[in-house]
Amino acid sequence: MLRVCIYCGSHKPEALEECGKCARVPRSHPDVIHSIILSHSEDEPYLNFIGLDEIEGFRESILSGSPLNIDPRIFKEAEEAYSAVGTMGSPQALQYFSRISHPVMVVTLFVFIIFVLMGA
Ligand SMILES: [Zn+2]
Repeated sequence: MLRVCIYCGSHKPEALEECGKCARVPRSHPDVIHSIILSHSEDEPYLNFIGLDEIEGFRESILSGSPLNIDPRIFKEAEEAYSAVGTMGSPQALQYFSRISHPVMVVTLFVFIIFVLMGA
């Protein structure tokens, strides 16, 4: 697993969270996409766009102060994959919904039954 801060080149624990070194958070759309491109994870292979050596190469250019020069094709690919993941929802969000949807269904059904009994 490798995640590089796009502002200072430090390694960080999560691609889209605050950097422990420079305290900057990727917020703008291009910064978010760049952060995703500069991370590599075995758990999320669909979000790996470049190799580990290429990430190291970009890290070196960030450290030396040169601007990030990411292939527009890779940027586009990352952008599409990221929006697809966003539409599907993260696994945590899905878990959250499966936890709450059940009691909500039960309450809805209960209200429906009462309604039917009252009407009858
Ligand atoms: Zn940083």
